[in-house]
Amino acid sequence: MPPTTPGLHHVTAIAGDPTDNAAFYVETLGLRMVKRTVNHDDTGTYHFYFGDGEGTPGTNITFFPWTDAGRQGEFGAGQTRDTAYLIDPEAVDYWAERLADTGVDVSRSERFGDEVLSFSDPDGIGLELIGADAPSDATPWPDSPVPEEHQLRGFHAVTLAVADVEPTAEILTDVLGYDHEGTEGNRHRYRSEAGGPGSIVDLVETDAGRGRMAVGTVHHVAFEVPDVEAEEQLLEVFEERGLNPSGVIDRKYFTSIYVREPGGVLFEFATPAPGFTADEPLAELGSRLTLPEWLEDERDAIEAQLPAFEPPEPTPADE
Ligand code: ZN
Repeated sequence: MPPTTPGLHHVTAIAGDPTDNAAFYVETLGLRMVKRTVNHDDTGTYHFYFGDGEGTPGTNITFFPWTDAGRQGEFGAGQTRDTAYLIDPEAVDYWAERLADTGVDVSRSERFGDEVLSFSDPDGIGLELIGADAPSDATPWPDSPVPEEHQLRGFHAVTLAVADVEPTAEILTDVLGYDHEGTEGNRHRYRSEAGGPGSIVDLVETDAGRGRMAVGTVHHVAFEVPDVEAEEQLLEVFEERGLNPSGVIDRKYFTSIYVREPGGVLFEFATPAPGFTADEPLAELGSRLTLPEWLEDERDAIEAQLPAFEPPEPTPADE
């Protein structure tokens, strides 16, 4: 058996305007922009990472902002519908008010006994804040516009929408070490046996046809695995199942493999090392465009073709 995953590593989605994207995640949600780089596979597109104070695995939501007009995606089966961050149960009222004050349409509900705030980001990506007593590895960010006690504490869960729960559930339970924990309505909850932060995957069945992956949709969800050896073991299992995984890929801040699970959701498996301080000190994370060494020679050409971007300007909560 390959080593199981403790939980989520990051979630990557497609945004529209890069300035609006960064403003929402930093100025409204209070996350730190921990990396500003380009999509290694499409260097005319930024790749932004927003996370906790240190960019800890399990706290980072990342974006490819696509600025071409008419690239709006369509939700459907085989997609991540909602990405949920953990908050302190005492912070739910603060967030309901903060989001409403910034013009975000928020709905409040209860799920498996926890309070849930549901809303969308400016591009229509489904987000949730869940007030729960759950493990967190997050480090507060002192410059956040959100007071420390209310800051997002890393991922709590993702909700994947699939045409049929069974094939995806089988990958979770038989390959990745998740257990079926419960069902509420049409929501089937799975939790990693390791039970760390971000250890929940919820599956919901949808009648929607296959979605179209573009602006406003999630590109992939990444799970954490300890090292490249674990990735190589997983590759073998996916190959045996005929799932045609990628090879091992150097993503500069982590090493990754990719596989599309049978329900259509693109899964990535990523290592915690080397992390975001591989090319800039902790104090300066996200403050400039970083490029992996294999793209550094092309920096001038890459910078020239990137879209206009105004970095976010958060006002720290304690000022
Ligand atoms: Zn990724």
